[in-house]
Amino acid sequence: MATCYMCNSEATSVEHAPPKCIFPRQRDLPEGVNLRDQLITVPSCDEHNQNRSQDDEYLLYSLVINVASNEIAQNHFFAAIMRAINRNPALIQRYTRTAVPVTIEDPETGERADSFAVSIEYERFEQSIDNLARAIYFQHYQEKLLTPITIQPEIILRTLDPAYAHVNAMVNEISRASDVFFENSEFHGNNPGVFKYQIDQDAAGSKMMRLHFYDNAKITTVL
Ligand SMILES: [Zn+2]
Repeated sequence: MATCYMCNSEATSVEHAPPKCIFPRQRDLPEGVNLRDQLITVPSCDEHNQNRSQDDEYLLYSLVINVASNEIAQNHFFAAIMRAINRNPALIQRYTRTAVPVTIEDPETGERADSFAVSIEYERFEQSIDNLARAIYFQHYQEKLLTPITIQPEIILRTLDPAYAHVNAMVNEISRASDVFFENSEFHGNNPGVFKYQIDQDAAGSKMMRLHFYDNAKITTVL
């Protein structure tokens, strides 16, 4: 009997990891481009099937709203967000309700621009990433990861507001440490412009995983 990637219950369905909505649809892309090729799926029980489209869409917004995301993310974002508004106005209102104006700075060019920041529902975001990391682990090692993991997003907007200086410093610190840890680690994933991951361990045997969305939105997890 096939069992679930998160527990020992019988698997009743498969779950996409990451959720399918993260990958642009064919109709949002130039002809002949397919970014939904060979998506990763894992066996899942009823309880752990994350088949909750609102959570999946929330994860999508949280990722693609980053200023640093690539062109795929931006095009997909606008197409997807328009559909979401038409389908479920309440969802997008909840997401943008917390928007505040900020000045942002491009970390590479130093260029500044007016933008807005939204507070994400962090627990909800974290739960989606937690499930995703366990699914990727299962797919990679054919083994379940049932112990607690730590999630360290590297994707908080860099605002120039001094009140956020410590947050930006911490995010930079995590990013630098992760760059060193994964310097020589292989990338995995069939649609790397949308999603790819690295997984590795240090000399002491501690494992880390780095999830990369749309090239620039990265999340480090300590397993
Ligand atoms: Zn389960």
